[in-house]
Amino acid sequence: MRKFKKFYIETTSICNLSCTFCPPTQRAKGFISIEDFTKTLDQIKPFTDYIYFHVKGEPLLHPKIGELLDIAHEKGFKVNITSNGTLITKNKAKLLNKPALRQINFSLHSFDGHPGSKDKEGYLADILSFVNEAVAASSIIISFRLWNLEMDNETNLQRSKNRELLSMIEKAFQLDYKIEEKFKPGTGVKIADRIYLNQDPEFKWPDLKEPEDDGKGFCHALRNQAGVLIDGTVIPCCLDGEGVINLGNIHETPFADIIGNERSTRLHDGFSRREAVEELCRKCGYRQRFG
Ligand code: SF4
Ligand code: SF4
Repeated sequence: MRKFKKFYIETTSICNLSCTFCPPTQRAKGFISIEDFTKTLDQIKPFTDYIYFHVKGEPLLHPKIGELLDIAHEKGFKVNITSNGTLITKNKAKLLNKPALRQINFSLHSFDGHPGSKDKEGYLADILSFVNEAVAASSIIISFRLWNLEMDNETNLQRSKNRELLSMIEKAFQLDYKIEEKFKPGTGVKIADRIYLNQDPEFKWPDLKEPEDDGKGFCHALRNQAGVLIDGTVIPCCLDGEGVINLGNIHETPFADIIGNERSTRLHDGFSRREAVEELCRKCGYRQRFG
């Protein structure tokens, strides 16, 4: 039986921000129901222990986020949440003391990415206050993400781009070094016990409108990750935010059959030969970077 290290469950397709680098979804806006969430977990249980609440949308907007975490725990899953952090104080009581919650990734790049953002200091202070409380009370892992670096020139990443935020973090954790000094692309900087900071170049969603390459290369899709959108559409990876590679619907066909169907098998076996058989994969910057 194939075991996925990461299984993405889109709990909402709605976001309260509109970052310039994040094309808004063309799909229906909504929240996953408790019933659909429970059914999805039952379907995927043999295939994974780790679920990730994020594809598009802001998971903390879900009015029943606490209940989703409780159900995940009852069914033996560990949950990772990726959030822009703007709603963290409002949701604090629903997140603290939830044994299923393994990790929260805070996408700090969303602050500068969203044109209407105000009060950077207040934004970060709210997140840091939650982080202090959560780390002291549980074994949660925190990752601060700044995936917004640009190239200074062809080889150099502009490391100082987030200096203002980095200074606030250095001050809050009483770091005696500048975070840029420890930065290596592709790896995180450990800034305290169970707290990491990851900087990376700006992320680009794969898009059928992008130019196609020769399609040679590898991707872990359907090997160690898969996902499901709020309407039940199964996708091979967290980057297919529009469900272009629609492998089937988990509410109509058992997940075990979906990952064994012809389209899934062609995608999986194609990558075994280092070949991207799907058009979207041939237009995917992620595969081009890491594949
Ligand atoms: S990058 Fe994240 S926070 Fe920004 S619009 Fe997209 S989903 Fe929302
Ligand atoms: S190559 Fe890109 S679009 Fe294709 S499955 Fe992998 S991550 Fe998804």
